[in-house]
Amino acid sequence: MKSFIKILFKISLFLSLTILTQIGGAIFLISLLLSSFWKKNYKLKTVSIFAAIYTTTTFAIVPKLAEQFGREKIKHTENVKPTMLLTDILNRNYVNPELNSVLNNIERDLKSDGIIIKYLDANFPFFDGFPLLPHLSHNDGKKLDLSFLYADVKGVPSNKKKSRSGYGSFESPTKNEYNQILKCKNKGYWQYDFSKYLTLGSVNSDLLYSNHRTKKLMISILRNEEIGKVFIEPHLKARMNINDDRIRFHGCQAVRHDDHIHIQLK
Ligand SMILES: [Zn+2]
Repeated sequence: MKSFIKILFKISLFLSLTILTQIGGAIFLISLLLSSFWKKNYKLKTVSIFAAIYTTTTFAIVPKLAEQFGREKIKHTENVKPTMLLTDILNRNYVNPELNSVLNNIERDLKSDGIIIKYLDANFPFFDGFPLLPHLSHNDGKKLDLSFLYADVKGVPSNKKKSRSGYGSFESPTKNEYNQILKCKNKGYWQYDFSKYLTLGSVNSDLLYSNHRTKKLMISILRNEEIGKVFIEPHLKARMNINDDRIRFHGCQAVRHDDHIHIQLK
């Protein structure tokens, strides 16, 4: 019985690491194998082997191999940064080179406004069709989520965010705005606001969503002809008052998009 539970635990760890990082599950299996060959016994032997291989692979090997799959890491610059460093550590920061050049254009566009573009989940480094959960469509190097922009109560712009992960801190519709969230929930799409569980903790509670600055970001995104679709919640599209066919509603089967902007290449 004890060994059955052990096997079950290892299988669930393998699956979780694969879902979270793509390569983690495979590295876990290699670590188990090496650990069984290595006769010396000490506490956390497998964990330390895993940590050493995972770190080396993630930072030294994966970026090189990803090139074979037409993907590269999102380039950090003065004004392009991850909302959460963990995104990079988990290998969730890979895009097609075309998307990096779009980011570069947006950065140049918004530099004089002091806007730092904070990215969220992108794609994994390998294989088209391998989804980066919970985003089903982030599976081909063409998709990227970006954080909203905020200001403090006095209207002073801030590049900080309202949740640690960058997800799950919603800018809900006011009572006069169209409420897509309610519609989806009423239709039985229980998962529509699931991202409220993914904040990893709320921070900077004094910040307010800046429609003005987020609109600037949106306009800059849409200046790039390579962008095929942008997803944002309908009430925020209306609030921005931008008419562009590429801003679409993502559908009730997805999760609500009033905590981030989703962009994708054609
Ligand atoms: Zn997305």
